[in-house]
Formats: sequence, structure tokens, C-alpha cells
Amino acid sequence: MRISDVRTAAIGGNFEWILVRVYSDAGLTGLGECYWGAGVEAAVHRLRPFLIGEDPQNVDWLYQKMIQGLSGAGSMGGAVVAAISGVELALWDLKGRALDTPIYNLLGGRFRDRIRVYADCGRGEEPTPESWAARALQAVARGFSAVKFDIDRIDPARFGEAHHVSAGSRLIWMQGQPHGISNKELDLIVSLVGGVRDAVGPYVDLAVDCHWSYFPRDAIRLAQALEPFRLAWLEDPTPPDNVEALKRVTDHSAVPICSGESHYTRHGFRQIITTQAVDIVQPDIPRTGGLLEAKKIADLADIYYIPFAAHNVSSPIGTMAACHACASMRNFAVLEFHGQDVAWWDDLFIGQHPLIRDGNIALPEGPGLGIDLNEDVARQHLRDSASFFA
Ligand code: MG
Repeated sequence: MRISDVRTAAIGGNFEWILVRVYSDAGLTGLGECYWGAGVEAAVHRLRPFLIGEDPQNVDWLYQKMIQGLSGAGSMGGAVVAAISGVELALWDLKGRALDTPIYNLLGGRFRDRIRVYADCGRGEEPTPESWAARALQAVARGFSAVKFDIDRIDPARFGEAHHVSAGSRLIWMQGQPHGISNKELDLIVSLVGGVRDAVGPYVDLAVDCHWSYFPRDAIRLAQALEPFRLAWLEDPTPPDNVEALKRVTDHSAVPICSGESHYTRHGFRQIITTQAVDIVQPDIPRTGGLLEAKKIADLADIYYIPFAAHNVSSPIGTMAACHACASMRNFAVLEFHGQDVAWWDDLFIGQHPLIRDGNIALPEGPGLGIDLNEDVARQHLRDSASFFA
């Protein structure tokens, strides 16, 4: 069996979902997805010369060939690794279909029969405890036993309507640039998180995301203020580039610190894991290198007794692919679900419906991914009409 083509389709979900299909001369195809951003789809097409004519079953070798071919040794990140991840997912689907077995069987088999999922709730409609509580209770009513909220950029007096630049004020804010927390903002965050905790009770897992927003000292103040709410984790308190700054927060926080969605490949995770700069590691599987690379990161984390909570904003295709990797990890904790507000999320695939039941995804028994793309629904949500596996 040889790879005969690689094509993409860009779906306009709540994120841009770049689907990848690998074709073979045996008539079998494999489906993957990559996350995300400018240049990812173009990078997938740049990978075609490294793939066509090769045996799709040599997944790890092809992964190394793609890394070497597109980025060269030592410069692995961004759109290149995301694109490679999408192809890697598709190769596993193709191989599973060729061997008539689920992908998790090819990754060492499964530790569990279902994958626990948490609901990303974003924010309430208003920055009030009542609004945030209502948002949390919606997710709990849908069966989720774990939820996450975004606590950065919530003080309207500070960040205004268009929160990229607060023109004319003391502060110019840009994502990825850390800042301090005023007492007023801190009190607002405490009231909102407290509102959620009061609403869901003590035993729903509750995480909060800071989106790389704070100076280390302020992140430590924030963690101390949120300690009474017994959080599952505090996510990305500082920007992703300086692991030592993140470690300072982790070392001074009673709240577990979680990070990793902006890191790529096992090399990108080495320092964060070996210095124990996080309590929970959070790779995005269709971005960080794919299923086997995520399994390798999980195993490295497992040596340090660090659990793995997968970041995920993908369509059902990328989400199910991530489930196969998560099934194979001893230290898997929970997988993100970011599609609560996408009404057609479950319509995009053919397979067990709904995909998420009582806050879990049951692992499929069918070959490869175990689900297929509903092409009719996918065509209705193309980013542009020419992009369907072109
Ligand atoms: Mg996050």
C-alpha cells in the first residue's frame, strides 16, 4: 500500500477545523485534523512530496521524515508541527482501517473504556456570579462532571469592549503580554469563581484558564485568592515561553497549575516536565505532533507522576482521534470539549450519537477512528466553497 494523495478541507466551526485526508493506492483513506492557525492548511500541502509513494503504515518514520523535510532539525513549532499532526492522525486512521482494528490497539491498547470529558464554558454572558453560575449549571445539566471558565479579561472597566487595545488608558493589553491584577479585578474573579462553585457544589471539578495573562507574582496572588474553591487547576497563568517563570508560580501555588497547549513535540515538553514546572500537563494532541507524540509526552510526564489533561478545540474528528491517544495513556486525566455552542457538532460525523454521553466518550470498536465524516454536513460549513478536500 502506498500513499497516493493528501488533501484538506477547512470547516468553519467555533475554531477553524482543518481536516486532512490521506489517500492510498489500495482505495483506503485516512482522516485527520490539525489545530490550528495561519498557514496550517498550506503547510499540509507542502508535506505532500514527503508522503506520496510511501507506505502509510510506517507512521513514526513518516513523522520524522515530515519534521525533517519541512522544518529541519531543531526548529519545530507552530503551523509546521500542527500540519504534521493532522497528517499523523490521518495515517493512524488509514492504518487502523487497513488492519481492521481501532487506533488505540496500535498505540499499546487501552487503559479505559471511555474518555472523561470536561466542558469549556468560556464565560457567563455577563461578569456576574449569577450569569456564570447559570452557564455552569447548563453544562452540569448536560451531564458534565467537570467544567472550565476563562477568568482573564473579565473586568470591563479595565479592558473595555474591544479588549485588544485599551486606547488612551494606562494600559495597552495584548494576548501573550502579562500584566498585573488590580485588587478590584481580583475581587471580581473571586466572586465569579465563587458563584460557579456555589452553584455546582463541591464535587464537580472546576478549572479556570488565565490565557498566559499575568506576572508571576500576580499569578501567585491569584492562586492564593482562589484556594478556597478547591480548583482542579489554574491554567496558563504566565506566558508559555519562560518555563522558569511558570515554575515559580507552580512552586508557590496550592492550586494545581496546568499548562502545555502552546508547546510542541516531546522536545518542547522536556523542560516543563523534567523541572516539574506544572502539576498537570496539557498538550493539544492534533497540534503537538499527533497521537504517538502525545503518548510519548504522556509517558515522559508519567515518570514524574504528572497527569495528562488534553487541550482540545477540535471537531468530532480531531476529538475522537485524541480519544484513541488518551485511551493508551496510563496517566490520562480528562479531555477538553469546546463545542457546547456549536449546534451541529454531533451532525458532523457518522457514528455513535451523541459522541459525549454523561460527560464521557465511549471508545469505539470499529477500525481506525471508529467514526466517519458526514460529508453533506461538512460541505454546509466549509470555510470557502473550494476547500473540500481540494
Ligand atoms: Mg487554555
